[in-house]
Amino acid sequence: MVDAGALAADLAAQGVVGVSITWADNNGIPRCRIVPIASLPQVATRGVGVSTLFAVFDTHDAITFAHQGLATPSGDVRLVPDLRGLTRLAGQPALAWAPGRQIAVDGSPWPYDQRGVLEAQVEAATAEGLEVRAGYEMEFVLTQAGEAGDGGGQPRLAYHAPAYSPHALLAVDEFVADLLADLAANGVPVHQLHAEYGPAQVELSIAPADPITAADRQLLARQTIHAAARAHGLRACFAPLFTAADVGNGWHLHTSVWRGGRNLLAGDASSGERPGPDGAGWLGGLLRDLRALAAITAPSVPSLARLRPGYFASAYQFWGVENREAPLRYVLGSELLGADHANVELKVSDASANPYLALAVVIAAGLAGLREGADPGEPIQVDPGRWSEQERAARGLGRLPTTPAEQEEALSGSKRLTAVLGEQLLGAFLAVRRSDAAWAAERSLDDVVAAHRWRY
Ligand code: GLU
Ligand code: MG
Repeated sequence: MVDAGALAADLAAQGVVGVSITWADNNGIPRCRIVPIASLPQVATRGVGVSTLFAVFDTHDAITFAHQGLATPSGDVRLVPDLRGLTRLAGQPALAWAPGRQIAVDGSPWPYDQRGVLEAQVEAATAEGLEVRAGYEMEFVLTQAGEAGDGGGQPRLAYHAPAYSPHALLAVDEFVADLLADLAANGVPVHQLHAEYGPAQVELSIAPADPITAADRQLLARQTIHAAARAHGLRACFAPLFTAADVGNGWHLHTSVWRGGRNLLAGDASSGERPGPDGAGWLGGLLRDLRALAAITAPSVPSLARLRPGYFASAYQFWGVENREAPLRYVLGSELLGADHANVELKVSDASANPYLALAVVIAAGLAGLREGADPGEPIQVDPGRWSEQERAARGLGRLPTTPAEQEEALSGSKRLTAVLGEQLLGAFLAVRRSDAAWAAERSLDDVVAAHRWRY
């Protein structure tokens, strides 16, 4: 049991004056409430009041009242910090940070709480004797701050140099140094950071952890990146697309599933370049539900535009071994790296996904596949975007949803995934997507992309 009083006193002695309790809404947008540090002990048990309507906020902060369960301005829930994630923010030293759970005012679970939905899937895995590990890669574009408001003009890129070049990051050297130090201090273990392929694009990959920690850390990493960028006169764009034409920002989600300390995604002598039977079932489960998964893991209107062939972002429903064009990239273990390195990377994933929901549906799809022995079939090792339409059709290769209508159809058609959200959260989620789609329908893609640029 965490002693909230002792924690608060300790933080206050270090100069912390407030705690930012953060959650993510159905658009993947972080929202928060800050409470004075002295009230932490009380807030830790009673929470702080927030409107039920955050479940029906759309990407543009409009509230849709189209979902029946949340159709009026009346209603309150409690936002409770999970003190296991309490972190003093290195880049904002007067604040501490904690992930928030939303519960009903009587203390019972609230069906719209995305973190609770993930907790249920983690419990389902545990009940089957399985453990899931997950890790995010986050791509973002760095610009100079303050040169273009949310609506206006094209912001100036923070660096111009060859992709993956050591010279590229030199222009933002102090930012990189502070960011790495702050992430370490905030308890976010980093695998690597580099100048990515796109203009002024940076990638940060976070080491794997249990699913709740992985999702919490994805939110904490965003806060850490934003704060470090601000300190150096920069701004970080996490949106799926920075411009309509350039390479997008994928937030690829790596998962593996374990039993008794053994990574089931690892191959064996007989499986060759594919996982053993249980791991193949996990992969097969993700593959068969991929179109519905994408509706949750890459849900925004710019998400749909990002999923184009030839951009390493994925566009068709298939898997490949280390194939960077595949929405499901099977990453092998090796003698050098060890079998435990093996995992499956979901590329159809970006910052507009709620990280808790994204992981919840991935786990549900994977668990069902494992249980039922879903067969992933043969991998594809090329870019099927280069095949003719006829060739793709002949091989039965489907495109991932490209419109909000196709997205909704895909999600609604998957009983497995709709059951994960439950009727109420699903209703709110779809209402929000429809609200976003209606907003975007009257605008050009450039305008839509610009409006999403700084939302995450
Ligand atoms: N930027 C690409 C995307 O939109 C990913 C590039 C890569 O393979 O890391 O997902
Ligand atoms: Mg990348």
